[in-house]
Amino acid sequence: MEKLHIGGITPFSTIDYPENLSAVFFFQGCVFRCPFCHNSEFQEVKKPYYSFEKFKKFVEERQGFLDAIVFSGGEPLLFDKELVFLAEDSKKSGFKVGLHTTGYSPERLKNLLDKKLIDWVGIDLKSVKENYPFACGIDRNYFDETVESINVLKQSGIEFEVRTTVFKEIANSDSLREILNLYSVLGIETPVFQVFSVDGKPDKEIELILEKFKLENNENFIIRK
Ligand code: SF4
Repeated sequence: MEKLHIGGITPFSTIDYPENLSAVFFFQGCVFRCPFCHNSEFQEVKKPYYSFEKFKKFVEERQGFLDAIVFSGGEPLLFDKELVFLAEDSKKSGFKVGLHTTGYSPERLKNLLDKKLIDWVGIDLKSVKENYPFACGIDRNYFDETVESINVLKQSGIEFEVRTTVFKEIANSDSLREILNLYSVLGIETPVFQVFSVDGKPDKEIELILEKFKLENNENFIIRK
């Protein structure tokens, strides 16, 4: 595999794989165009430029310093062959492998899990079904695929996290209640609400709405800033 659709790297992260130090490789290209996208530079697919040699050197140099290699994006499952290749190599080098995905393709996710290439997954649950296209910024509704991906993860036995970015339009009691009910129907015990960020800073107003809602309703969701 000559060139890879990697658009960027975070060489050191404490937040992208729970309780593990990781490096994050961001794939180019995304199926969605979320209005709250924090990684918009990775939405479009550009010419692949990152070489496998570069990846291998990076990973080998961090053996003993990092615990995990995480693939994010964009949507890493768009380039699933590259992802399989890189995950296999990361595992051979002794790293755990994490994946951030929209869950748009339960089949591709299952293929990776069946191959035992992924140890932890962070999956987005953008909204309730009727608002899914709006929350994803596209016409097609990927709600059913996402739910199927969550079911695939539940059956796999690996650890995973389901999270929802809370942006202005859903930062109200009715929408939050609807989303929490959805988590409950899906059997997810600890919902994660991620505060919408502007220029890398969490929106203070949304943060306060979430804290108030949590306190008043005695809910157990996690607020991530
Ligand atoms: S899924 Fe993620 S990368 Fe893709 S548009 Fe939405 S926020 Fe941006």
